[in-house]
Amino acid sequence: MRGLVWFRRDLRTLDNTALIQAIRTVSDSQHDNQGLMALFVVTPEQWKQHNLSPMQADLIRRRLVTLSEELKALNVSLHVGTVASFNECPSLLAQLCARFNIDQVFANAEYEVNEVIRDEATQKALSAQQVEFSLLADKCVFTPGTLLNKQGSYFKVFTPFKKTWLQRFSVEQSLVHKPKTLERNALLDENMQVNSDLDYPTADSSKWHSDTKTVIAELRRFAIERASDYQQDRDFPAIDGTSQLSPYLALGMLSVRQCVARLLNGRHPEQLDIGEQTWLSELIWREFYQHLIYFEPKLCKGRAFVPWSDNLHWQGEGENLAKWQRGETGYPIVDAAMKQLNETGWMHNRLRMVVASFLTKDLLLDWHDGEAYFMSRLVDGDFAANNGGWQWSASTGCDAQPYFRIFNPISQGQKFDADGSFVKKWLPELKDVPTKYVHCPWLWADFGSLDYPEPIVDHKQQREKALQMYKDAKGSGD
Ligand SMILES: Cc1cc2nc3c(=O)[nH]c(=O)nc-3n(C[C@H](O)[C@H](O)[C@H](O)COP(=O)(O)OP(=O)(O)OC[C@H]3O[C@@H](n4cnc5c(N)ncnc54)[C@H](O)[C@@H]3O)c2cc1C
Repeated sequence: MRGLVWFRRDLRTLDNTALIQAIRTVSDSQHDNQGLMALFVVTPEQWKQHNLSPMQADLIRRRLVTLSEELKALNVSLHVGTVASFNECPSLLAQLCARFNIDQVFANAEYEVNEVIRDEATQKALSAQQVEFSLLADKCVFTPGTLLNKQGSYFKVFTPFKKTWLQRFSVEQSLVHKPKTLERNALLDENMQVNSDLDYPTADSSKWHSDTKTVIAELRRFAIERASDYQQDRDFPAIDGTSQLSPYLALGMLSVRQCVARLLNGRHPEQLDIGEQTWLSELIWREFYQHLIYFEPKLCKGRAFVPWSDNLHWQGEGENLAKWQRGETGYPIVDAAMKQLNETGWMHNRLRMVVASFLTKDLLLDWHDGEAYFMSRLVDGDFAANNGGWQWSASTGCDAQPYFRIFNPISQGQKFDADGSFVKKWLPELKDVPTKYVHCPWLWADFGSLDYPEPIVDHKQQREKALQMYKDAKGSGD
């Protein structure tokens, strides 16, 4: 028996369902010539089409090096192949299977449309060669399709989804599985080196970790030291109140089970304190959006969840998009957030909501532009979470913010960055502005001396226009 395990956005050895299953199957086969190889496929054209950020590409690049070391310790070699796009994956897999006499390919299922099409085509190509393709459920605690409401359809509201998730959850679902070392491996290639050039633009991701030990230590630190304060701290961007584990969850360097298991630490969800429960809720939001794209492939095709919102007539001025991207809108909380994104590849959740609301409801620009820009910058870019977050903010999504709830960028700043420390960190040009004016510097007597722009739009006026824009779209029917 010879197997191939195909890594995608599940770049870990610990608790990797496909890898564990592959090692078990190969070990059990007791064949003299048994073997297992691991594969990762770089798809530069596809990544470009998906707006994969150079920083996430760099983290993938670094992670492949450490992953290959971890695999080596299990007696498995990692091969990195390159083809332009997902379309070429089936033939690449078929060729490799023929060359190495592979009987079975193992991979963890992904739920985005292009990924599903890729896997269906691979299944076809492999079965033509009598190679089995086993797709395993790994990404969520509850596999998409297994949590349904009483009517047998998927949940369109988060709260009942979460309630059902918690009711049906059993501690066994968060058990973390370890891979065994493969005793004999005819496909081991001692000299295999991971090529560190991905044929894709990269940006320095060294602020983020690529080794499992440190990532797990971060998870442990957060669960032990910060999770209990999460409820009270999580909305304040100047505080280190959230886990910042999203890049690792997005690339599968951590499994959601590892997070849940570490948080629970032997307890049942009901025994968690309020902070810990709130963090668990966020992991369940992640799952909510994964389930949603599974049931609604249209979301992967640029469509809004709410049909009438496809009629929105975005009337903002195109040049404001670049100002928003650069953080030059004249609203400090928006600009500081965009600087944080541009520099670190990460943005605090509260601010993601603020800048997304600002783009759509103040600048009256299409959420698709924001969604694409985020993907092109985020180190934690994840289609389902990003699309879900954008559609939530733009009020076009499933269980989204109602369209008439429009964040005021001044009061959001005053509420969540009251002393202006976050804003001053990212916009040092505002360092001398008194706290009273830090979120509305244009009102300060010395504004003229600052190297900082005036607001590019008037929030009050834009708010009225936005309300009308949404009413018009809604009125034009579902
Ligand atoms: C407009 C917009 C775009 C977003 N784009 C992404 C994205 O591309 N990738 C991404 O992982 N998250 C995205 N989010 C969700 C959220 O902002 C980030 O997951 C979070 O800020 C990551 O920081 P953290 O790891 O400290 O989160 P924590 O608060 O510590 O939460 C723990 C984990 O739960 C998950 N999570 C938390 N909040 C959400 C949420 N609202 N939706 C889905 N999953 C969540 C993440 O995996 C996160 O790492 C987006 C939100 C908005 C409003």
